[in-house]
Amino acid sequence: MKNTLVIGSGISGLTMALLLAQRGRKVILVEKLPFIGGYLNRFSRNGLRFDTGLHFTGGFGNVLSDMLEILNLQDVVKPAPIRTNVVLSDYGYNISLPSNGLSALAEVLSACFPKYAGRIRKYYEAEQDVARHTPTFDVKNYKQVDFVAQMTEYDALTVQEYLCQNGLDAPELQVILPIMSLCHGTPPVEAPFSYHCRCSCGLDAQVSAIQHGGDAFLKGFRREFARYDVQILTATTIERLQFHETLPLCTYATLSNGQTFEVDEIYFAIHPSSYLPLLPERFLTPQFKRRTRNLKPTCSFFTIYGWLDDEIQAQNGLTFYLQNCDLNCILTPGHLMTHSSTGMVTSNDQMNGHATFTAFRTMFPEDAESACGCNRDDYRGNVRYLEFKKQFTEQILHDVYQVYPHYKGHLHVVDAASPMTCRRFSPPIGSAYGTRQLLGSSRTAGRLSVENCHALGHHVQFPGILGCMLGAFQEAIS
Ligand SMILES: Cc1cc2nc3c(=O)[nH]c(=O)nc-3n(C[C@H](O)[C@H](O)[C@H](O)COP(=O)(O)OP(=O)(O)OC[C@H]3O[C@@H](n4cnc5c(N)ncnc54)[C@H](O)[C@@H]3O)c2cc1C
Repeated sequence: MKNTLVIGSGISGLTMALLLAQRGRKVILVEKLPFIGGYLNRFSRNGLRFDTGLHFTGGFGNVLSDMLEILNLQDVVKPAPIRTNVVLSDYGYNISLPSNGLSALAEVLSACFPKYAGRIRKYYEAEQDVARHTPTFDVKNYKQVDFVAQMTEYDALTVQEYLCQNGLDAPELQVILPIMSLCHGTPPVEAPFSYHCRCSCGLDAQVSAIQHGGDAFLKGFRREFARYDVQILTATTIERLQFHETLPLCTYATLSNGQTFEVDEIYFAIHPSSYLPLLPERFLTPQFKRRTRNLKPTCSFFTIYGWLDDEIQAQNGLTFYLQNCDLNCILTPGHLMTHSSTGMVTSNDQMNGHATFTAFRTMFPEDAESACGCNRDDYRGNVRYLEFKKQFTEQILHDVYQVYPHYKGHLHVVDAASPMTCRRFSPPIGSAYGTRQLLGSSRTAGRLSVENCHALGHHVQFPGILGCMLGAFQEAIS
């Protein structure tokens, strides 16, 4: 039997590899780092486990639970309830968001902004409507799905345009309603409303943390890979492809470990700039080249990690703290010192009897480089980089104490990671959500111009853990 290669072992590659193995394919999973998982990886400090790129998700109770069941991971990947707050310090708002559906959310916000009640309800009805008409979410009935039917009137409208055209002109609402833009990374002036709704509906309806975070996913995937005999090659990458003389088909792949495999199909769950040089010029159409040239990365994050003293009695919680409330500036580069948002997650995954605390501030890699005067190759151990980390750790702590003044003196920071660190888990850019989804432009998606090669990952369909899994499910059937 020929081999199906999956390149990259983040959540996208892992999901794809398992779905293909379940369908009887001979799967080889190729990972550049010495360990699998990409942004699912956790790390240890002081005996505590910290997540890198998975702090919370939507979709438990519906599409995520359906996918976990199909992958047979439902016994290891389990939700942990979490309370969500939005704090807009400039406007003096601290709103606790319900976690029991879009109607409940609409009612809470309508009570806060009675003048806009009807328009707020209409906003969430539109979000619900987009989700309902997105066949990709119906993972249990994929055989009957016609993915083309996904186009809606909201594909031709940005989030910002939707808000303006529907009289949602209060500046606070222009942040609170599309707050989950912070979880897909495309600013409201760029994101198609439909795309935003698809990414946000699960999170707006119900946010959950995951018991044992990325460790739970990796434990489940390892178990299933052993069942289906998926071959995992770490510290390995793809070096060369051979193609059919006349047809746009890949025939053989040579890896950095020297092995050559006869190829049935290849799934690239990595950044497009890493695999495009492997594809021959004769198979790349001008449209395809234009699409890939115009890719713009989303933000990354500067993250601090710590633990809390027992007397705090911390609850699982997620807080979005925004000092300057312009999501468009926060989600585009060049505004590091003026616009940012800090997400804060308290997790009662009580290891060693302590609650962990993680706070992540939006930051673009290029802004981080100019702020610290280092580039991607020379930052490690550099005094200026260490000074930059200290400065931003203090800035984030300032935000944290605005929201949780009682944490002062009880929060012990054990490490910090910058967008440069993110590149290690998600090379080469280190963006949190891959490439931005701009209205009117399509990304590299699905089947490539070489017919047995496919693009996957958060650069392609939807970002985030749930979005990346959905992308793999859709690709597996199409
Ligand atoms: C700080 C932070 C917090 C986040 N928080 C959340 C959250 O709470 N919830 C949520 O849903 N999402 C969150 N995200 C986003 C989410 O983590 C990502 O969208 C998702 O994990 C991307 O998965 P992926 O498989 O597409 O890519 P990745 O996880 O980036 O995996 C790509 C893998 O491919 C490997 N690779 C790269 N190049 C090659 C090559 N040439 N050959 C072989 N292997 C290669 C990499 O080493 C990596 O293992 C967060 C992201 C960040 C940075």
